[in-house]
Amino acid sequence: MPHCHDMKSGEIYVCSDCGLELQVVKECREADTPAESCSCTPCQFVCCGQDLAKKQS
Ligand SMILES: [Zn+2]
Repeated sequence: MPHCHDMKSGEIYVCSDCGLELQVVKECREADTPAESCSCTPCQFVCCGQDLAKKQS
């Protein structure tokens, strides 16, 4: 499951159902903060009812 703290600039996330691809242009500003103690949780990136998957380059 993609979490905004794990999503790095340039990475691409895909929906295996419809084929949508999203690229990270800018990282979460809290990326260096543990997700558990961050104000931006929970965040979900869902398409077609399922989590987006990181595309392997
Ligand atoms: Zn989709």
